Amino acid sequence: MTTGHDAATYRVGSFNITRVTERLIEFPAASLLPDWQAERVGPHAGSLVPGSVGGDLARTAVSVHTWLVRADGITILVDTGIGNDKVRRQPVFNGLRLPYLERLAAAGVTPGMVDFVLMTHVHTDHVGWNTMLVDGRWVPTFPNARYLLPRAGYEYFTGPDGRGRHNYDMFADSVLPVIEAGKAEFVPDDGGEVLPGFTYIPTPGHSVDHMSIALASGGRHGLFAGDVMHHPAQIFEPAWNSVFCADTDRARASRRLVLDRVADQDALYFSSHFPDTSAGRIARGADGFEWRFE
Ligand SMILES: [Zn+2]
Repeated sequence: MTTGHDAATYRVGSFNITRVTERLIEFPAASLLPDWQAERVGPHAGSLVPGSVGGDLARTAVSVHTWLVRADGITILVDTGIGNDKVRRQPVFNGLRLPYLERLAAAGVTPGMVDFVLMTHVHTDHVGWNTMLVDGRWVPTFPNARYLLPRAGYEYFTGPDGRGRHNYDMFADSVLPVIEAGKAEFVPDDGGEVLPGFTYIPTPGHSVDHMSIALASGGRHGLFAGDVMHHPAQIFEPAWNSVFCADTDRARASRRLVLDRVADQDALYFSSHFPDTSAGRIARGADGFEWRFE
């Protein structure tokens, strides 16, 4: 399985979009998608290789990354990965020392240049680089940015049971510091336009607070769909949930909504976790939806 990929630059109207990779994690496909059947994936292998399946269609990988979105005078990050130095129960997230900021710099962006950080949901692998460890304290990595996150994610961790929630430590080290610094804004449950061209769309199911972020510019469309899908096989098999989907029925409904929307708009689909380029297009075919990496 070829897992590395040079970051391409995509265009949606006046915006340029490129991926800033944090890491790639490879594992048996069925450990991510329990319904996985190699014989169901096989007919689609042509649109999944080289980066998405390997080992006789039994292994796959997920990418963890940020989408860097730029237009004249504005720099936006969509989701911020796992982060460095975070203490996590999951070994693949724990104590990382990865050159993420160096990769961001290679794309031409220093932390002070970031205007907005948009989060699809408050999970460990989407909020990590919100903060970094400086002199033993977690401080906002992007000092001039406004950080936008779904209000439901904030309420999930600050409600009566908040401190007892699984992964509260992630909220405490990666989200609370930007709130306490006065840099956070909360997106209402029904979503809406948060910046010219950027509209939050409720897509719950993977998590209670999950939202996708639609980009529209110059008659073109993109969708940052977060964790509505973890692997492109879910485009052919929309009923397949990941092991991480909290509400399985709502996760399927949100996946269907996203597939219809992206196909209808001929939007560029920007995934939080697909391997290979992590981006592509979805079309309707004779037997459901089809996928093409771009
Ligand atoms: Zn994720």
